[in-house]
Amino acid sequence: MAVKITSLCINCGSCIEECPAMAIVGAEDSPIGADITYVKPEKCIECEGSEPRCAAACPSDGAIVWDLPYIAEFNDYYVDGHNKGIYKIREHKTNGIMFPAVSPKPFQASVSIDKRQNHANVIE
Ligand code: SF4
Ligand code: SF4
Repeated sequence: MAVKITSLCINCGSCIEECPAMAIVGAEDSPIGADITYVKPEKCIECEGSEPRCAAACPSDGAIVWDLPYIAEFNDYYVDGHNKGIYKIREHKTNGIMFPAVSPKPFQASVSIDKRQNHANVIE
């Protein structure tokens, strides 16, 4: 990730169409079996701009928050989340599970790690 969707999501679906990376799926397709819309961290590219497109389209304050960059430095965080069922990272046939150490993604360096660790709202 990336960004993350919280329990404040009302499943309106607006963010799904906006995502340029096709990283968002509806609750019915949630790989973790949750009843809210889900962002695949291994696909999210933190699309550039003043605000990520998903958050700009979201009508529910606090439904889309920052998460840690999807890079090798935070590989353990995503492995742990995957093992706990918070995420379900896609498995590639030959490369294995696409953790950040295997397939890092772009992130917005201007967003602090503090904000990300605290899952601050993307839209302030
Ligand atoms: S930040 Fe951009 S790439 Fe990531 S889920 Fe939102 S719209 Fe998709
Ligand atoms: S736009 Fe916001 S409320 Fe609607 S599905 Fe996405 S995260 Fe949920």
